[in-house]
Amino acid sequence: MVVRAGREFLAIPGPTTMPDEVLRAMHRPALDIYSDTMVQLTDGLLRDLGQLFATQGRCYIYIANGHGGWEAALSNVLSRGDKILVLESGRFAIGWGQAAAAMGVEVEVLPGRWHRAVDPAEVEARLRQDTQHNIKAVICVQVDTASSAVNDIEAIGKAIRAAGHPALYMVDAVASLACMPFEMDAWGIDVTMSASQKGLMAPPGLSFVATNDRARAAHQTANLRTPYWDWTAREGAEHYMKYAGTAPVHLLFAQRAAIDMLLDETLPNVFTRHRLLAEAVRRAVAVWAEGGVLGFNIARPEERADTVTTVTVDGADPAALQRYCKDKCGVVLGTGIGELRGRAFRIAHMGHINAPSILGTLGVIEMSLAALDIPHGKGGTQAAIAYLAAAVAAD
Ligand SMILES: *Cc1c(COP(=O)(O)O)cnc(C)c1O
Repeated sequence: MVVRAGREFLAIPGPTTMPDEVLRAMHRPALDIYSDTMVQLTDGLLRDLGQLFATQGRCYIYIANGHGGWEAALSNVLSRGDKILVLESGRFAIGWGQAAAAMGVEVEVLPGRWHRAVDPAEVEARLRQDTQHNIKAVICVQVDTASSAVNDIEAIGKAIRAAGHPALYMVDAVASLACMPFEMDAWGIDVTMSASQKGLMAPPGLSFVATNDRARAAHQTANLRTPYWDWTAREGAEHYMKYAGTAPVHLLFAQRAAIDMLLDETLPNVFTRHRLLAEAVRRAVAVWAEGGVLGFNIARPEERADTVTTVTVDGADPAALQRYCKDKCGVVLGTGIGELRGRAFRIAHMGHINAPSILGTLGVIEMSLAALDIPHGKGGTQAAIAYLAAAVAAD
């Protein structure tokens, strides 16, 4: 017997659920890519991306997933043999660093722990040792989607400045943009990258890079530049140069619709919605953890991300739980990756999520814990409901 039908619910950290408005926005003919409508579509998106990143700097749109955005960011500001410092807090900054290494950049990892966020004091201490200023850039993720740590991007920016170090500060906001506050200019970030398929609720295939004056100064001498990623080439007068060729017309329609929805809801409300639903997930996991099998990967509550929760599983098979949720109930959970392969599952709570989707997901997980006889504290979903009932006033 199964109790699933219709659409699966994706509780994975990307691609996330696309709203019907976003799906509908793509169901129309392509535009003449030289038309005014096309130029206005691009201009409007670039303007609104600046608002999402909270920057006055220039933004670029790439036809690429997040990995492409990583390469776009690196190639425009670095030269072969430059050294960068990668701040580890799980899998994703490491992955960005591996891309840099393959491009000929010297990579030093500031080692982190998989159950902790980056410690800004360690960043400051390491940069103070670099008296010759050999480190050209510091790269970091806001949310590490593997460990589910959230890094304090503002505090790390302050640490870099406190060390008096001129390194560029480059941040990956793929699993956090449009889900939680991000203040590129106010936090002293030089380059930010993100992608379309997580909090931005659009299909995979677009990535976004935002830059400030310091980044564009470094760009002048960077020798890793290539024609496709190059910012200068994309600043050419002709509209098609913004995409180094044909614009990804339908992805742009979709992203336009998604950003319209976010701005209609208003970003403060979007952030609050994510924070409340994330806390509901954490209340449930905390109760289940009383059974001694499940637990939070991230040790400190304040370092747990509002977009994804990595749940460790000790003494049961997370794959069996994921199979039950998917095959019997139509809820797809994220897999443990990297160090947590086979020892964790992940609940994503980013993008087009609401109370029914999150409470439904929690209910299905609790149902599967019972069906598979995995020891767990009873009443996790009830704790999530109680939390939301208290937090969401009846007016
Ligand atoms: C998903 C993700 C990426 C990679 O994005 P792709 O589109 O899969 O290439 C990079 N960084 C973070 C933090 C992510 O969550």
